[in-house]
Amino acid sequence: MSKKTVRDLTDAQLRGKRALVRVDFNVPMNDSMQVGDDTRIRAAMPTIEYLLERGACVILLSHLGRPKGKPNPSYSLEPVARHLATLTKARVDFVETTDSDEATRAATELSVGEILVLENTRFLGGEETNDERLSRSLACLGDVFVNDAFGAAHRAHASTEGVARHLKPAVAGLLMEKELEYLGGALESPKRPFISILGGAKISGKIDVIEQLLPKVDRLLIGGAMACTFFRAMGLNTGKSLVEEDRLEMARGLLARAGDKLVLPSDAVVAPSIEESKSATNVARDAIADSQAMFDIGPKSSEQFSSLIAEARTVIWNGPMGVFETPPFDRATRAVAEAMAAATGNGAITIVGGGDSAAAVADLGLESRMSHVSTGGGASLEFLEGKELPGVAALEDKSE
Ligand code: ADP
Ligand code: MG
Repeated sequence: MSKKTVRDLTDAQLRGKRALVRVDFNVPMNDSMQVGDDTRIRAAMPTIEYLLERGACVILLSHLGRPKGKPNPSYSLEPVARHLATLTKARVDFVETTDSDEATRAATELSVGEILVLENTRFLGGEETNDERLSRSLACLGDVFVNDAFGAAHRAHASTEGVARHLKPAVAGLLMEKELEYLGGALESPKRPFISILGGAKISGKIDVIEQLLPKVDRLLIGGAMACTFFRAMGLNTGKSLVEEDRLEMARGLLARAGDKLVLPSDAVVAPSIEESKSATNVARDAIADSQAMFDIGPKSSEQFSSLIAEARTVIWNGPMGVFETPPFDRATRAVAEAMAAATGNGAITIVGGGDSAAAVADLGLESRMSHVSTGGGASLEFLEGKELPGVAALEDKSE
C-alpha cells in the first residue's frame, strides 16, 4: 500500500541525475506581484534540499492559479522562482516555458546542485486534460520523478499523474510522505480514543467525510453552520441560520444511525446578522429565535468539545466552529485549536485539514503545536473521504 519515497532512491539513482519534482507552489500573490505567503514553498524545501545534498539537480514543475490552459503573465512562476532563491543557497534558474526545446535544453544543461523552475504547468492546454503527449514530453525532462505536491494530488493532470506513468522511478517527496503518513495513519491505525471535529459552512461538501469517518472514530463532533442543518433535522428552530434544506433527510438518517457517536453543540452564539456581532448572545440550541442566526457554537459546547479533545489520543479537525473571520464568532474555533495544541503536548496525534481551519491555526500561531497541518485543503478532504488520489496512485509501491 505505502508508496516509495525519495528516501528509497539509491545513491546511483540520484548522483549526477536530474530530479523532476512536482511541487505545489500555488501560493497567494500580493498586489505588487510578490509571493504573499510562502508556506507552501517552505514546505517543499526539505525535499529539494534532500535531492541537492545527494548530488542531483532539481527541475521544478508547479501550477499557480487557474490560467485555464493559456499563458497569462499574472500567473507566472517567475516571482515564485525569485522568492525560492532567497530560501536556498543553490542557484535558481527560471525558464518561461515548460514544454519546449528551451525548457529541455535548460534541463539538460543544469549542473549538479542547481535548481531550475519551469513556467506554470497550467499554461499548457494538455495539463488539466492529462494529455498523453504532454505527459511523455514532461517525462523526458528528468531521470527520476518526485511528486511532493500533495495539494494537487487529487487531480489527474499531466504533471501529477501522467508524467508519473512515463518516468520511473516515480516516488513521493518528503512533504507528500508526511501528509500520507499522518492522514493515512489516523485512518488505518489510530490511537484511541479517536475523535474528529467537523465544521465549516456546508454539510453537503463534507457528507462523504462524515460517512467515511463515522465507522472509524469514537466520537464525531459537529460545529459550524453544519450543526444548524442537524438542528433543523431534529425539529429545532434555527431562525436565520444557514441551513441546507435539501440535506435534511440525509441529516435525519445520520442522526438515526450514529447514535451517541455524533456530538452536536448544546448551545449557540447568535446574532441578527454577522454585521451585528456586537449584539451576540449565547442561547441553548432549542432557543434560537426567528430573528437570530447561529454564528458560532456556544461556550458550553466549546467546553465540552475541548474536554473530549483533551481525552483523545488522535484528533482530526476539518472546518471552523463558527464564522471565525469575525470576532466574537471566532471563540470556539480558537478554543478547539488551543485544546488540540494542548493535546499534542500530552502526546496525542493532532491533524488539521482544510484551508480555512489551517488558516485559523496559523493566525493563532499554533501551527507548530499540531502534529500535522495539511497543506492540501481539497486533497486532504478527498483523502478523508477514502478516495484514492490519482497523483499518489501513480507512484511506485514500496514492494515493487
Ligand atoms: P475548511 O476550509 O477548513 O474546510 P470550510 O471551507 O468548509 O472550512 O468552511 C469555512 C467557512 O465556514 C468559513 O468561511 C466560516 O465563516 C464558515 N462558517 C462556519 N460556521 C458558520 C456558521 N455558523 N454560519 C455561517 N458560516 C459559517
Ligand atoms: Mg474552505
